[in-house]
Amino acid sequence: MRDATLSVHHPAVSEDGYAALSVPTHRASTIVFPDAQAYATRGKRSLDGYSYGLHGTPTQKVLEAQLSALEGAERTVILPSGQAAIAITFLTVLAAGDHVLIPDTAYPPVVGFCRNYLAPRGIDWSVYAPGIGAGIEAEIRAETKLIWMESPGSTTMEVEDVPAIVQVAKAKGILTGIDNTWATPLLFKPISHGVDFSMQALTKYPGGHSDLLLGSVSVGSLEHRQRLRDTMRMLGLGVSPDTVGLVLRGMETMAMRLSHMGRVATEIAEELQDRGVGEVLFPALPSCQGHEIWKRDFAGASGLLSVVLPEAAEANLDAALDALEVFAIGASWGGTRSLMAPMSVAGSRAFPHGRNDRTILRISIGLEDPRDLRQDLDRFFGILSGADGKTTAG
Ligand SMILES: *Cc1c(COP(=O)(O)O)cnc(C)c1O
Repeated sequence: MRDATLSVHHPAVSEDGYAALSVPTHRASTIVFPDAQAYATRGKRSLDGYSYGLHGTPTQKVLEAQLSALEGAERTVILPSGQAAIAITFLTVLAAGDHVLIPDTAYPPVVGFCRNYLAPRGIDWSVYAPGIGAGIEAEIRAETKLIWMESPGSTTMEVEDVPAIVQVAKAKGILTGIDNTWATPLLFKPISHGVDFSMQALTKYPGGHSDLLLGSVSVGSLEHRQRLRDTMRMLGLGVSPDTVGLVLRGMETMAMRLSHMGRVATEIAEELQDRGVGEVLFPALPSCQGHEIWKRDFAGASGLLSVVLPEAAEANLDAALDALEVFAIGASWGGTRSLMAPMSVAGSRAFPHGRNDRTILRISIGLEDPRDLRQDLDRFFGILSGADGKTTAG
């Protein structure tokens, strides 16, 4: 062979005696076939086989299998983001004329997806109150095909009675799905409670380092896997093996990170509550809506909590945020760095609640020394309360 040919033909090397603990990053668009027959029948390859890079290389299969093992699922699919994982689940289950129920506490872009994408295409949606449990039955219509859950709810942290909702849904032949991003399958296992679609934003704890976006949907049946794959193929959705490799690395430390973050977040939530800085929303606190359900169904707490700021504190909020030295100001949580993000839920909530017009501070606990976090929190809440003389209000 001549040089140009030698330049594109990679020589085969022996892998005898080679073994590593890391997962190789296999990049491929083209999958090549050993002979004409194999190519001609490629469409008959099983869902777990290889036919085109869009559907994943062995790197992605490792992540899928690892998530399926943690979820107790039959199969898992990987999507470009958590939001894409939610959207693909809805688009797989719902057709024009159908109806979907979502919680009032859903991740806000889900509300936007229902209002601005599904509704104009003839898919109706409505919102149920957090903590509804078996009361979901009254919200179900003849057209309802999917009940979506998120537990704990975005920002306000209400824990849902997932088994009660699933029981009603199953009796009526309605599919269920859940956004399990806060807990990850380490702390809550939706499939074992009969949920059909268990979704998480791998962007958060599994990635764990604030440097990637991916989502996953785990399912308990091959039929759901097939339907998800069909939708993904039609929309041309695939993910980069490099990003998948980063999640595989992140997941190796996820259990350790989560247990540390959950412990520190619980201590800090209790301290903030004792200090009376504002209502603290965190499933591990007995005052949190659904705390008893959390104790019953979850294996622990993760590192994300919220504080409802008193009205009087709001004038000092910008000064307090600007004085932070350890916490960063930002939204996409679950990484090694602790974050604060002031949230306003009013625009995405249908059910009135006294705190809806308040600023709710979301706090994500990272891996810094908790003493440095406490010092930063002391300074922050000192400025908020006007106790340190730096207030803009006084
Ligand atoms: C971040 C997040 C998502 C979306 O994940 P992306 O990867 O950012 O699209 C969905 N649900 C919850 C609860 C989240 O926190």
